[in-house]
Amino acid sequence: MSLHSPNTEQSPHILILGMGGTIAGIAPNPEQNPLQYRAGQVDIQDLVGQVQQAVPENLKLIARQVANINSRNMSEELMTELGLVVQQALTDAAVKGIVITHGTDTMEETGLFLQATCGKLALKQSKRVIITGSMLPGNAPHADGPSNLLDALGWASTPPENCPGGIYAVISGRGCLAMDLAKRHATALNAPIQSSPSSAVNLINPSWLSGVRAVQAAWIEDFPIPGAGDWPWVEILTSHAGARSQTINHWLTSRVEGLILAGSGSGGVHDAWKIPLEEALLKQVALVRTSRTGAGHTLANIPEIDLAGCMASGALSAPRARIALQLALYAAKQAKIEGKGLTWQDFFARIAGLPVIQ
Ligand code: ASP
Repeated sequence: MSLHSPNTEQSPHILILGMGGTIAGIAPNPEQNPLQYRAGQVDIQDLVGQVQQAVPENLKLIARQVANINSRNMSEELMTELGLVVQQALTDAAVKGIVITHGTDTMEETGLFLQATCGKLALKQSKRVIITGSMLPGNAPHADGPSNLLDALGWASTPPENCPGGIYAVISGRGCLAMDLAKRHATALNAPIQSSPSSAVNLINPSWLSGVRAVQAAWIEDFPIPGAGDWPWVEILTSHAGARSQTINHWLTSRVEGLILAGSGSGGVHDAWKIPLEEALLKQVALVRTSRTGAGHTLANIPEIDLAGCMASGALSAPRARIALQLALYAAKQAKIEGKGLTWQDFFARIAGLPVIQ
C-alpha cells in the first residue's frame, strides 16, 4: 500500500506503522557484538510476521512502512508524514488501535509531537496510539523487540475501559504516556523508560491512570501539524563553563526563529549570554529556558527574573521543549491568519503547563 493512499482495509484491525530503529536493526556479528548494528534494516511486514503466531487469531494486523531509519536522523518532514497518517487512522472506523515501531533515540520528540497534535483526537476516538522500540537489534540473542511489539499490540487492542484513548509508549513490559518517555542512559537495556512514571502493561496502576486522566483533561485542543516545509527553525544551545557571547551572536545572523537555552542547574544561563539574548528578543527570536540536568522543573523567574518574553520550560526537557516551541510558533502563525490574538507563549504554556504524573 502506498503511504499516501488511504488505508482501504474495511475490517477491524490494528494498524502498525514502521519508522525503523533498533527494533528493525541487524547486527553483522550478533553473538560477539550485538551493540554494533545498523538500525532500520528490516521491513515492518517482516517484523510483524515474526510475532504473528503469538497474536490472537481474531486480531487482524495491517502493517505500513512510513520510514526505515535510525531515529537519530528523524526529520521534521517525517514527523509531518507520521502525524498525518496517525490523524487519518484515528478517524478511520476500521482502525481499532495504532502501534508505531520507532528508534528509541528520538522517541522523546515523536512522543511529544504526537501528544500535542493527536492527543485530543485519540482520546475522543477512544483509540490508543502506542510507540514501541527496542534496545537490541532483531538478530541479537535475547532481542527485546518481539516482546515489546507484542506488548504494544496487546495494549493497543484492549478495550477502552481499561485505559483511555491517547498517545502512549510501551517498552520493557511497562507503559507510559509517550510524552513522558525518554532515553536517559546510553547503554542500559531499560534506558528508554528510566525515571518515567509508568505502569506494568498487564496490570494498569490506578494512581498512574488517574495521572493520565489529569493530563488528558488539561489537554484542551490539538495543535495543527506543520506542513513538511513549514516547521519553524529552532535550535538548542547549552550553557556551560566558558560559554561565549559569540554563540548567541552567531545565531542572530541566521533566520532562526527560536532558541532553547539548556541552562545549568535550575536553568540559568552564563552571564556572557545576557546582552546577546536581549538582542535576540529585540529581533523577535523566541526564547525558552530549560535545564541541562535532565531532570526536575525549570520555573519562571527562578533562579533570576526572566528576560521579558522568555518562557521557562516547566518539566519539558530540551528536546521536548524544542518540539513544543516549534509547534507553538506554528500554531501562533495559524492563529494570526485566523485573526485570533494568541501568541506563541500562549500555546507553549499549554504544553509546558500540563500536569506531571508522579
Ligand atoms: N539509534 C537507534 C534509533 O534510535 C536506537 C534505538 O532504536 O534504540 O533508531
